Amino acid sequence: MKLNKEEIEYLFKHYFHLLPLDLKHTIKYPYLNEVDLEEEKVKLSAILIEKYGDKVFWNLCPECNKLARTPKAKQCRFCGHNWH
Ligand SMILES: [Zn+2]
Repeated sequence: MKLNKEEIEYLFKHYFHLLPLDLKHTIKYPYLNEVDLEEEKVKLSAILIEKYGDKVFWNLCPECNKLARTPKAKQCRFCGHNWH
C-alpha cells in the first residue's frame, strides 16, 4: 500500500502511539534533516499499516471519499459535507 502525504500525516498524528518504543525513537532524533525525516515517516507509516492496520480507522467522507482531518471528525474538509 502506497500512502500519500495526507495519509502519512494522519497516521502520525493519530496512530503514532501504536508503534513500539524502539521504532518511535528513530523518528525523534533531532538531527534528522527534513528529507531523512520524510523518509523515516514513510518507512514507519508502512510498518504501522502492516502491523497495526486493523487498529487504524480511516475516517473517509461518505460523500467524496476523502480522508477527514481526524478519526473523529464529522465534517469533510474538502467538500464540507457533514455526517453528524
Ligand atoms: Zn467530502
